[in-house]
Amino acid sequence: MKRIYLASPHMGDEEMKYIQQAFDTNWVAPLGPNVEGFENELKEYVNVKNATALSSGTSAIHLALKVLGVKEGDVVFCSSLTFSATVNPVIYEKAIPVFIDSDYKTWNMSPKALQNAFDDAVKNNKLPKAVIVVNLYGQSADYDEILKICNKYNVPVIEDAAESLGTTYKDRQTGTIGEIGIFSFNGNKIITTSGGGMMVSNNEEYTKNALFLATQAREAKRHYEHKEIGYNYRMSNICAGIGRGQLKVLDERISKKKYIYESYKKAFENIDDIEMMPIYESPNYWLSVMTIKEGSSIKPIDIMEKLEKENIESRPVWKPMHMQPVFKGYNFFSDLDEGSVSEDLFNRGVCLPSDTKMTDEDLNRVIDLVKCCFVKNLNKESITV
Ligand SMILES: *Cc1c(COP(=O)(O)O)cnc(C)c1O
Repeated sequence: MKRIYLASPHMGDEEMKYIQQAFDTNWVAPLGPNVEGFENELKEYVNVKNATALSSGTSAIHLALKVLGVKEGDVVFCSSLTFSATVNPVIYEKAIPVFIDSDYKTWNMSPKALQNAFDDAVKNNKLPKAVIVVNLYGQSADYDEILKICNKYNVPVIEDAAESLGTTYKDRQTGTIGEIGIFSFNGNKIITTSGGGMMVSNNEEYTKNALFLATQAREAKRHYEHKEIGYNYRMSNICAGIGRGQLKVLDERISKKKYIYESYKKAFENIDDIEMMPIYESPNYWLSVMTIKEGSSIKPIDIMEKLEKENIESRPVWKPMHMQPVFKGYNFFSDLDEGSVSEDLFNRGVCLPSDTKMTDEDLNRVIDLVKCCFVKNLNKESITV
């Protein structure tokens, strides 16, 4: 049986053209015209002044923290409901993460929990150096509320837009709303360069400094002169070539992702136990996620096992960072008086296949199998989608 993926690379028609050009001109490494081309084309797409193409989204977050001056012992507030790559760079710098819960409206950082964390920080006389806000599954966070709070304390926001390229919040592209934004082009993201990332900002100093650090902190001298420790974090000209081709099909990918989400939504409309992730602002619909209502006899594992048997990939919602063994002992601020929104979503959520290469037939296969879990005494054949 054909495997159906959560999200896998989906090439367009022009990636090979840019790669071929790189080979023809021997711009195989290290940099080359595709890197600058990709940066310029992405800048134009999201409407931002500066961009630095990097080897991963993780390295982009790391450099964002560096250029904001995050150092050992500094505190960084961070969305708890995310992938560990959001937080790892905080630890690379020996800084202290403080995790902030989500709210049910956006599934992203809860302004209420954020305010509580700031109240506590003021009490302890130790404000955070930065706040990392994640746009989960391609959905924007509530930036008006979040920025209102952060601006009050003059603390910069890093937008982890790894999953949300093309998503807009009040007509602005996510990634460009905070002081610094980062994108990922890993294989599972909405567009890919096989592996890669980008740091964007309207602040030229930040991007200049990031570029310097990403290229081994080499001073502008004929010989190799170093006054600081740098990194080898630049994107290659081959990867950037893939990115240029992929950027051309980004809008197409978003439409298909939206179609997938809406197909699930419609198909599950009459199943009381299923709720689709709420839509807030204008997402890129990177992953379609459903939750099972509290008290249902069906659990996420039942759905995941049923799909896996048919060679279909699905996943739980990200396990919150405040529940991860590796981040045990760091502070967490919940949106609720008891328990937390992120933990609840983790317990009840299933990420459904959202691969843009899925045919209607594939999509209906998934829908039928999920429906089968909920509709008793109804076999697969009797369900028409
Ligand atoms: C993928 C991802 C990252 C990391 O990006 P890489 O390019 O894989 O390093 C960071 N944050 C989130 C939310 C992600 O989904």
